[in-house]
Amino acid sequence: MIESRTKIVIVGGVAGGASAATRARRMNEHAEIILLEKDADVSFANCGLPYYIGEEIAERSKLVVASAEFLRRRFALDVRTRQEAIAVDRNAKRVTVRNHVTGNEYIESYDKLILSTGASPFVPPIEGRDAANVFTLRNLADTDQIKAATDKGQGKTAAVIGAGFIGLEMVEQLARRGYTTTLAELLPQVLPLFDSEMARPIEQELRDNAVELALGDGIKRIVTDESGRAAGVELASGRLIDAELVILGIGVRPNVQLAQAAGLEIGPGGGVATNRFMQTSDPDIYAVGDVAEYIYGPTGTAMRIALAGPANRSGRLAGEHAATGHSAEMADVFGTSIVRVFSTTAAMTGLTESLAARLGVPVRSVTVLANNHAGYYPGAQQMTLKLVYREVDGRVLGAQAVGGEGVDKRIDVIATAMALRATVRDLAGLDLAYAPPFGAAKDPIHMAAFAACNQLDGIEEFVPANADLSGKQVVDVRARTEVEARPLAGAEQAINIPLDELRDRLGELDPCKETVVSCAAGVRAHVASRILRQHGFDSVGNLVGGATLRSRAWRNATEK
Ligand code: FAD
Repeated sequence: MIESRTKIVIVGGVAGGASAATRARRMNEHAEIILLEKDADVSFANCGLPYYIGEEIAERSKLVVASAEFLRRRFALDVRTRQEAIAVDRNAKRVTVRNHVTGNEYIESYDKLILSTGASPFVPPIEGRDAANVFTLRNLADTDQIKAATDKGQGKTAAVIGAGFIGLEMVEQLARRGYTTTLAELLPQVLPLFDSEMARPIEQELRDNAVELALGDGIKRIVTDESGRAAGVELASGRLIDAELVILGIGVRPNVQLAQAAGLEIGPGGGVATNRFMQTSDPDIYAVGDVAEYIYGPTGTAMRIALAGPANRSGRLAGEHAATGHSAEMADVFGTSIVRVFSTTAAMTGLTESLAARLGVPVRSVTVLANNHAGYYPGAQQMTLKLVYREVDGRVLGAQAVGGEGVDKRIDVIATAMALRATVRDLAGLDLAYAPPFGAAKDPIHMAAFAACNQLDGIEEFVPANADLSGKQVVDVRARTEVEARPLAGAEQAINIPLDELRDRLGELDPCKETVVSCAAGVRAHVASRILRQHGFDSVGNLVGGATLRSRAWRNATEK
């Protein structure tokens, strides 16, 4: 048992740090708890910053989750803002602190030290990056600057560089503020963490909302005018984008300098290595949040995952452990995340197919297009749900969903199932709430799981949406009008036999040929594939997601 008067010093006062401090106090009323924050603000809502800039959140004060004064009063914390930890002497168990108000430095001893130093936006070493109207977004000070720039109506063109979560949120919010926006991304897709075909609807949504996309084109330099202000951005291709406001959202780097200088072990992902109690290689020092590494659920290996949920949970856990000597273990992290882009939502958890391939994890996947609630009930919205699972035993390793309402629910359910090590068979049996306004008796999760079970059991084979179909017998089982409206991309030879005519027209097909069936979304093609297989067709595959997914994925294939 740790002495109740233990002295805990926490470095970094936002998501992880504030969670650690308040949990430590709740668990140990007698501990001395010092919260050091180098900037002016503690415990603010990083995740809300884009929405304040876009004026969806009207009051700045709403971004402050707990002020320094509140934390002092309610939790008896010694909160010290504008005080930066600049060195850790592990042998003496002392931290050197620089007070940015007075300019003085002083020494603070500790029994337990918690590092929640977060991460900093990456700024590439390019010409023009220091221009006054070039911004990154991490904290309230950045927010105030961007807000002031937009409030002044400084310009009406904006370039956002980087199409990850923050870039997408910023481009949406700047468009909301009336800016003509361009979103540039080095990779040939938005949402670089997603499988490319799953990102297509977000790209379409951006275009539909007049956001210009420059994909597959990295930033070369920021073009400045005579006064040194940014006037635009030049991309690697030579393309010039007008921009009176430039936001760099190229990713973050963990603030490991303090830990590194103190000789703490750095993990394979570049964050501070930790155990299940968030202890570093020095058991009296914890690391939490964006600076730390967690165990990534799908692979069981250490990984850096810069998200607010794990930061808060790891902070809370480390605070308790530091204050009492025990706590629950940090659970696996799956990188569950979500973004809204105008009227479309994209969410993911765990492995994508592309990450699995990079990590060498053998997986299979299925993709379904299904309504968020019963189609006969007004307002149903179609979502695309992709499930990634382990080939050997069907264990669910990841999911991505894109669509309108209900995307969040599906991803959260699957993330929960993954945390409990569910297989696709478990998902197929989930007892989910249903009434027509909320879901379907066969929920999109069930539909995806059924497809995966069929795949595992050899009842159905799926053909990837971007497959080369040349030389194959392609049977499109949609109605003629549907085919005329949207022919199957990359399959000019496709024979159109509407599903309800298939049994009567089997003679038109060669049962010995490799056959691919397709419809609009994959459901009718499933019925068709079952008919063909039971009529002696040797090899029948269902084109995943039918013509809809093909139109997204085939573009990828041809672009490559
Ligand atoms: P932070 O919250 O960044 O806190 C670190 C603090 O440590 C900083 O205030 C820093 O000044 C201080 N510090 C650093 N070094 C020192 C030192 N030596 N001495 C004293 N203080 C120091 N995540 C989601 O899951 N969902 C979202 O929607 C989402 N949206 C986001 C939107 C934006 C604009 C941003 C920037 C982030 C968003 N995130 C989101 C990520 C999430 O905010 C972070 O994962 C989370 O804040 C990490 O918490 P942390 O405590 O590790 O770091």
